[in-house]
Amino acid sequence: MSAEFKRTGILCVVSGPSGSGKTSLCRAVSERGVCEYAVSATTRQARAGERDGVDYFFLSEEEFEHREANREFLEHAVVHGHRYGTLRQNVVEKLEQGVDVIMDIDVQGAAQVRFSTDDLISRSLVDVFILPPTMDELRSRLEGRATESEEQMDARLERARQEMEHWREYAHTIITGTREDDLASLRAIMAGERFRSARLTPPEGTGLWEK
Ligand code: 5GP
Repeated sequence: MSAEFKRTGILCVVSGPSGSGKTSLCRAVSERGVCEYAVSATTRQARAGERDGVDYFFLSEEEFEHREANREFLEHAVVHGHRYGTLRQNVVEKLEQGVDVIMDIDVQGAAQVRFSTDDLISRSLVDVFILPPTMDELRSRLEGRATESEEQMDARLERARQEMEHWREYAHTIITGTREDDLASLRAIMAGERFRSARLTPPEGTGLWEK
Protein backbone atom coordinates (compact mmCIF):
# COMPACT_ATOMS: atom_id res chain seq x y z
CA MET A 1 0.00 0.00 0.00
CA SER A 2 1.25 3.50 -0.80
CA ALA A 3 2.32 5.40 2.33
CA GLU A 4 0.12 8.25 1.13
CA PHE A 5 -3.09 6.35 1.64
CA LYS A 6 -4.82 7.26 4.89
CA ARG A 7 -6.79 4.79 6.96
CA THR A 8 -9.38 5.50 9.65
CA GLY A 9 -9.26 3.26 12.72
CA ILE A 10 -11.35 0.21 13.44
CA LEU A 11 -13.74 0.24 16.38
CA CYS A 12 -13.64 -3.23 17.84
CA VAL A 13 -16.66 -3.77 20.10
CA VAL A 14 -16.27 -6.83 22.33
CA SER A 15 -19.09 -8.35 24.40
CA GLY A 16 -19.62 -11.62 26.23
CA PRO A 17 -20.84 -12.89 29.58
CA SER A 18 -18.87 -12.19 32.73
CA GLY A 19 -16.47 -15.09 33.13
CA SER A 20 -15.75 -15.26 29.39
CA GLY A 21 -12.45 -13.46 29.89
CA LYS A 22 -13.37 -10.59 27.56
CA THR A 23 -11.99 -7.81 29.75
CA SER A 24 -8.56 -9.38 30.13
CA LEU A 25 -8.58 -10.20 26.42
CA CYS A 26 -9.31 -6.56 25.51
CA ARG A 27 -6.63 -5.39 27.93
CA ALA A 28 -4.15 -7.90 26.50
CA VAL A 29 -4.52 -6.70 22.88
CA SER A 30 -4.27 -3.07 23.93
CA GLU A 31 -1.17 -3.74 26.06
CA ARG A 32 0.47 -5.31 23.02
CA GLY A 33 -0.03 -2.03 21.15
CA VAL A 34 -2.51 -3.58 18.70
CA CYS A 35 -5.12 -0.93 19.58
CA GLU A 36 -6.19 1.49 22.31
CA TYR A 37 -8.59 0.54 25.06
CA ALA A 38 -11.57 2.91 25.34
CA VAL A 39 -11.91 3.60 29.06
CA SER A 40 -15.62 3.66 30.00
CA ALA A 41 -17.39 5.87 32.49
CA THR A 42 -19.41 4.25 35.28
CA THR A 43 -21.35 5.15 38.39
CA ARG A 44 -20.33 1.97 40.23
CA GLN A 45 -17.80 2.10 43.06
CA ALA A 46 -14.18 1.39 42.22
CA ARG A 47 -13.06 -2.09 43.28
CA ALA A 48 -9.80 -2.61 45.15
CA GLY A 49 -6.89 -1.86 42.86
CA GLU A 50 -8.96 -0.06 40.20
CA ARG A 51 -7.73 3.37 39.17
CA ASP A 52 -9.78 6.33 38.00
CA GLY A 53 -9.06 7.12 34.36
CA VAL A 54 -7.32 3.78 33.82
CA ASP A 55 -9.92 1.09 34.56
CA TYR A 56 -12.92 3.42 34.41
CA PHE A 57 -13.80 7.07 34.81
CA PHE A 58 -15.70 6.82 38.09
CA LEU A 59 -18.51 9.39 37.96
CA SER A 60 -21.26 10.41 40.37
CA GLU A 61 -24.86 9.88 39.25
CA GLU A 62 -25.15 13.67 38.70
CA GLU A 63 -22.01 13.85 36.60
CA PHE A 64 -23.13 10.89 34.49
CA GLU A 65 -26.57 12.41 33.96
CA HIS A 66 -25.06 15.76 33.06
CA ARG A 67 -22.86 14.17 30.41
CA GLU A 68 -25.76 12.12 29.13
CA ALA A 69 -27.91 15.28 28.81
CA ASN A 70 -25.02 16.86 26.87
CA ARG A 71 -25.07 13.85 24.52
CA GLU A 72 -21.45 13.06 25.31
CA PHE A 73 -21.94 9.29 25.22
CA LEU A 74 -21.54 7.18 22.12
CA GLU A 75 -23.58 4.55 23.97
CA HIS A 76 -24.70 4.00 27.53
CA ALA A 77 -26.61 1.36 29.48
CA VAL A 78 -27.55 0.17 32.94
CA VAL A 79 -25.71 -3.06 33.76
CA HIS A 80 -26.20 -4.86 37.10
CA GLY A 81 -27.92 -1.72 38.45
CA HIS A 82 -25.11 0.71 37.58
CA ARG A 83 -24.66 3.09 34.69
CA TYR A 84 -21.92 2.56 32.14
CA GLY A 85 -21.08 4.54 29.02
CA THR A 86 -18.43 5.28 26.42
CA LEU A 87 -17.49 8.92 25.88
CA ARG A 88 -17.88 9.70 22.18
CA GLN A 89 -15.08 12.24 21.88
CA ASN A 90 -12.32 9.86 23.03
CA VAL A 91 -13.30 7.31 20.43
CA VAL A 92 -14.00 9.56 17.43
CA GLU A 93 -10.71 11.46 17.70
CA LYS A 94 -8.71 8.24 17.67
CA LEU A 95 -10.61 6.73 14.75
CA GLU A 96 -10.07 9.88 12.70
CA GLN A 97 -6.33 9.68 13.44
CA GLY A 98 -6.27 6.08 12.19
CA VAL A 99 -5.88 4.61 15.67
CA ASP A 100 -7.75 1.35 16.30
CA VAL A 101 -9.93 1.32 19.40
CA ILE A 102 -11.28 -1.58 21.46
CA MET A 103 -14.38 -1.34 23.67
CA ASP A 104 -15.49 -3.88 26.27
CA ILE A 105 -19.24 -3.22 26.57
CA ASP A 106 -22.45 -5.13 27.21
CA VAL A 107 -24.95 -6.27 24.57
CA GLN A 108 -27.23 -3.23 25.00
CA GLY A 109 -24.36 -0.82 24.37
CA ALA A 110 -23.13 -2.86 21.41
CA ALA A 111 -26.61 -2.67 19.83
CA GLN A 112 -26.56 1.13 20.17
CA VAL A 113 -23.17 1.32 18.43
CA ARG A 114 -24.40 -1.03 15.70
CA PHE A 115 -27.40 1.22 14.99
CA SER A 116 -25.40 4.45 15.15
CA THR A 117 -26.23 6.87 12.34
CA ASP A 118 -22.74 8.36 12.51
CA ASP A 119 -20.98 7.39 9.28
CA LEU A 120 -17.51 7.14 10.84
CA ILE A 121 -18.79 4.86 13.60
CA SER A 122 -20.65 2.50 11.27
CA ARG A 123 -17.70 2.35 8.86
CA SER A 124 -15.34 1.56 11.75
CA LEU A 125 -17.38 -1.04 13.60
CA VAL A 126 -16.11 -4.59 14.04
CA ASP A 127 -18.20 -6.47 16.61
CA VAL A 128 -16.98 -9.60 18.33
CA PHE A 129 -18.74 -11.89 20.79
CA ILE A 130 -16.73 -13.95 23.25
CA LEU A 131 -18.61 -17.21 23.77
CA PRO A 132 -17.66 -19.90 26.29
CA PRO A 133 -18.00 -23.33 24.63
CA THR A 134 -20.45 -24.70 27.24
CA MET A 135 -22.42 -23.55 30.28
CA ASP A 136 -20.39 -25.96 32.42
CA GLU A 137 -17.19 -24.25 31.31
CA LEU A 138 -18.67 -20.85 32.15
CA ARG A 139 -19.84 -22.07 35.56
CA SER A 140 -16.41 -23.40 36.46
CA ARG A 141 -14.79 -20.13 35.37
CA LEU A 142 -17.21 -18.12 37.49
CA GLU A 143 -16.75 -20.43 40.46
CA GLY A 144 -13.01 -20.07 40.12
CA ARG A 145 -13.11 -16.34 40.70
CA ALA A 146 -16.13 -15.62 42.89
CA THR A 147 -16.80 -16.04 46.58
CA GLU A 148 -20.57 -16.20 46.27
CA SER A 149 -23.56 -18.04 47.60
CA GLU A 150 -25.38 -20.64 45.49
CA GLU A 151 -28.21 -18.16 44.75
CA GLN A 152 -25.83 -15.41 43.70
CA MET A 153 -24.03 -17.86 41.44
CA ASP A 154 -27.33 -18.96 39.88
CA ALA A 155 -28.33 -15.33 39.27
CA ARG A 156 -24.95 -14.65 37.69
CA LEU A 157 -25.27 -17.71 35.44
CA GLU A 158 -28.78 -16.69 34.42
CA ARG A 159 -27.54 -13.21 33.45
CA ALA A 160 -24.72 -14.83 31.51
CA ARG A 161 -27.17 -17.11 29.70
CA GLN A 162 -29.34 -14.11 28.72
CA GLU A 163 -26.31 -12.22 27.47
CA MET A 164 -25.17 -15.24 25.43
CA GLU A 165 -28.47 -15.32 23.53
CA HIS A 166 -27.20 -12.28 21.61
CA TRP A 167 -24.12 -13.85 20.05
CA ARG A 168 -25.61 -14.05 16.54
CA GLU A 169 -26.05 -10.26 16.41
CA TYR A 170 -22.26 -9.95 16.21
CA ALA A 171 -20.36 -10.30 12.95
CA HIS A 172 -17.66 -12.38 14.67
CA THR A 173 -17.72 -14.96 17.45
CA ILE A 174 -14.74 -16.36 19.30
CA ILE A 175 -15.50 -19.64 21.05
CA THR A 176 -13.10 -19.50 23.92
CA GLY A 177 -10.15 -21.81 24.30
CA THR A 178 -6.92 -20.98 26.06
CA ARG A 179 -6.06 -17.36 26.72
CA GLU A 180 -3.42 -17.52 23.98
CA ASP A 181 -5.89 -19.01 21.46
CA ASP A 182 -8.42 -16.25 22.19
CA LEU A 183 -5.80 -13.56 21.84
CA ALA A 184 -4.62 -15.00 18.52
CA SER A 185 -8.23 -15.15 17.27
CA LEU A 186 -8.96 -11.55 18.19
CA ARG A 187 -5.72 -10.38 16.60
CA ALA A 188 -6.58 -12.29 13.42
CA ILE A 189 -10.02 -10.65 13.19
CA MET A 190 -8.48 -7.20 13.67
CA ALA A 191 -5.69 -7.87 11.19
CA GLY A 192 -8.19 -8.83 8.47
CA GLU A 193 -10.38 -5.81 9.17
CA ARG A 194 -7.48 -3.43 8.57
CA PHE A 195 -7.61 -4.22 4.84
CA ARG A 196 -11.16 -2.97 4.29
CA SER A 197 -11.34 -0.59 1.33
CA ALA A 198 -14.10 1.47 2.97
CA ARG A 199 -11.66 2.79 5.56
CA LEU A 200 -9.03 3.93 3.06
CA THR A 201 -8.67 7.40 1.53
CA PRO A 202 -6.31 7.72 -1.46
CA PRO A 203 -3.79 10.58 -1.69
CA GLU A 204 -5.49 13.89 -2.47
CA GLY A 205 -5.16 15.68 -5.79
CA THR A 206 -3.59 12.85 -7.76
CA GLY A 207 -6.77 11.94 -9.60
CA LEU A 208 -5.69 8.35 -9.28
CA TRP A 209 -7.61 5.43 -7.79
CA GLU A 210 -10.98 7.15 -8.14
CA LYS A 211 -13.55 7.02 -10.93
P1 5GP B 1 -17.68 -4.51 35.50
O1 5GP B 1 -18.41 -3.57 36.40
O2 5GP B 1 -17.64 -5.91 36.04
O3 5GP B 1 -16.32 -3.98 35.12
O4 5GP B 1 -18.50 -4.57 34.13
C1 5GP B 1 -19.82 -5.01 34.13
C2 5GP B 1 -20.35 -5.04 32.71
O5 5GP B 1 -20.46 -3.73 32.18
C3 5GP B 1 -19.51 -5.83 31.70
O6 5GP B 1 -20.37 -6.65 30.93
C4 5GP B 1 -18.92 -4.77 30.82
O7 5GP B 1 -18.70 -5.23 29.50
C5 5GP B 1 -20.00 -3.71 30.84
N1 5GP B 1 -19.48 -2.38 30.50
C6 5GP B 1 -18.31 -1.83 30.87
N2 5GP B 1 -18.17 -0.61 30.35
C7 5GP B 1 -19.28 -0.37 29.60
C8 5GP B 1 -19.71 0.72 28.78
O8 5GP B 1 -19.05 1.75 28.63
N3 5GP B 1 -20.92 0.58 28.19
C9 5GP B 1 -21.70 -0.52 28.32
N4 5GP B 1 -22.85 -0.56 27.67
N5 5GP B 1 -21.31 -1.58 29.07
C10 5GP B 1 -20.12 -1.51 29.71
